Amino acid sequence: MLPVSHLLEKYPDSPFVVLSDFDGTISSEDSNDHLIDGYGMGVEKRKVLWKKVVEETETFRDAFKVSLESAAKNVTFPEAVDILRKAIKLDPGFLPFYTWCRAQSPPIPVIVVSSGMEPIIRGILAELIGEQEAADIDIVANDVSLGEGPHDWDIVYRHPESGFGHDKSLAILPFKNLPHKPTLFFCGDGISDMSAAQHAHVLFVKNKEGNDLKIYCENKGLPFKLFDDFTTVLEEVKAVVEGAKTPEQVMA
Ligand SMILES: [Mg+2]
Repeated sequence: MLPVSHLLEKYPDSPFVVLSDFDGTISSEDSNDHLIDGYGMGVEKRKVLWKKVVEETETFRDAFKVSLESAAKNVTFPEAVDILRKAIKLDPGFLPFYTWCRAQSPPIPVIVVSSGMEPIIRGILAELIGEQEAADIDIVANDVSLGEGPHDWDIVYRHPESGFGHDKSLAILPFKNLPHKPTLFFCGDGISDMSAAQHAHVLFVKNKEGNDLKIYCENKGLPFKLFDDFTTVLEEVKAVVEGAKTPEQVMA
């Protein structure tokens, strides 16, 4: 697992940093839901479990582990990666956004911050943005452990002590605390993004049905900018970088 400290060393003085959730944000469909609904406990049982997470009677960490175990019984890990490489599509605006960020001088870091498993994310991205880009992109995520038998695979949490499994605030806060105070953009859509959302200077929330992050932000009174795809994120990030808008104006 990539330590966040490595990213701080890699981008010590970037004035702007983009951190983004992967599933359902950079990808158009949540890959874990796809796997669990199609090959594990199924959509109905998953939704019952997820409702408990939103109501805070179950942790994301435990619910997600149980859900993945139900899929692991039926598919091996390489099969899971293969299924998802074929099924999952990219947000239509992501590649132009990513390419634009990389072309700036200095390049604007785009860091994937995910509660999924890194090898699955790299596998899906290899299919969507190419092997080289997928190998190079910075991913702060959970990992997988492969056991003796082909079905003995399991998620390894970055922060097993946290109810989130991966506490995404720990990916964003070290950037916020850098002495030069970079402007931080965060993009997300779900429960796992709640811990990081409040720390961004500009929070982008994906516009979709059953959006738990939107509900959370509204309940907490946190400002955010809704986006349908990364075309909007590109326009708004560009406006902030060029000084045409302040972060507050983007979310107004
Ligand atoms: Mg998500």
